[in-house]
Amino acid sequence: MPDEAPFTADRIADLMEVLRAPEHRAGLEEATFTVVSVGDRAAGLLRVSGTISGTHSLRDWAGPNIAVRLSVPEQSVEFAGIDGAPETTARVYTVAGVDIESRTVALDIVRHRESSPAMRWLGRVRTGDVVPIAGPRPHRVPGPGLPRILLADSSALPAAIRILTRLPIEAPTVLVAAAPDDEIDLAEGELGDRRDYVTVQRAEPGIDRPLATAFAGMKVPAGASVWAAGEREGVREIRRRCRDDLVLPADSIRVFGYWKRGTSNTRIDVARLEAARASMEAGRGVFATDDLDIEI
Ligand SMILES: Cc1cc2nc3c(=O)[nH]c(=O)nc-3n(C[C@H](O)[C@H](O)[C@H](O)COP(=O)(O)OP(=O)(O)OC[C@H]3O[C@@H](n4cnc5c(N)ncnc54)[C@H](O)[C@@H]3O)c2cc1C
Repeated sequence: MPDEAPFTADRIADLMEVLRAPEHRAGLEEATFTVVSVGDRAAGLLRVSGTISGTHSLRDWAGPNIAVRLSVPEQSVEFAGIDGAPETTARVYTVAGVDIESRTVALDIVRHRESSPAMRWLGRVRTGDVVPIAGPRPHRVPGPGLPRILLADSSALPAAIRILTRLPIEAPTVLVAAAPDDEIDLAEGELGDRRDYVTVQRAEPGIDRPLATAFAGMKVPAGASVWAAGEREGVREIRRRCRDDLVLPADSIRVFGYWKRGTSNTRIDVARLEAARASMEAGRGVFATDDLDIEI
């Protein structure tokens, strides 16, 4: 059952300790992100670009699927009124573009319709605003196998495009996108020459779990590699088909929940930290529990 226990000062302080574990912080640089531009890329997609503080090289930020954790200056509603609770809210985004020389990093952020810390911040963010950022966190790329199938909703298209434009393309490759047409058109444009090797399929719009529905209708050969990211319950169904019906090798299945309908990322983070703490207490690594197996 998902954990509905109330947040208390003690519980939050306890979980902040897990965040400080060396394994959790490995490879992460703490820096600031100074906003240099904010603009629409598509009707529901905003690009926020900013410069990264410091003088260290940003070469590692330019990899194929790099995530960063932005601390937006809005408190999570779950923490309101709790002594010692964080007053900012950490949210994870993919590096959609990097200019190493000018130290500029671009994030493409979905403007969804729910009230949330990130959406409140986006509503008032201005050039010159400074927010803490932690990164670069390399996120997973497709595993071995052909054909290579990627499935992404709006939140994961920036990651899919970085993967498809930064990794060698081993034809044939299929990208299944569950996003508005203007975002898919944009993604196709970003593929550039690689467009010749990638078949882009549009998932049926306006249905529940569009990626899982599209995937259920696909013929998937035994040697395929499947990478999927997006709404947690939808991609969990994709993982289930890969494991149980298609029996693909574990390393060829790379499936990640980027958000969960009806649940804030604050609650997801708390569940992840509790799983990490349980894992550490059992003498295993911080990240020993498969994220999609955590009860959220
Ligand atoms: C590795 C990784 C990379 C990511 N990259 C990106 C990226 O490049 N661009 C991007 O936009 N997102 C990305 N995400 C997803 C993003 O972190 C979440 O969508 C996050 O929850 C947004 O925070 P919030 O404060 O807006 O909403 P929350 O406070 O987390 O949620 C509030 C409500 O909004 C809903 N909600 C949250 N996100 C969405 C969404 N995308 N669509 C519809 N409803 C939503 C929730 O279901 C909830 O009901 C990534 C996530 C991960 C783990």
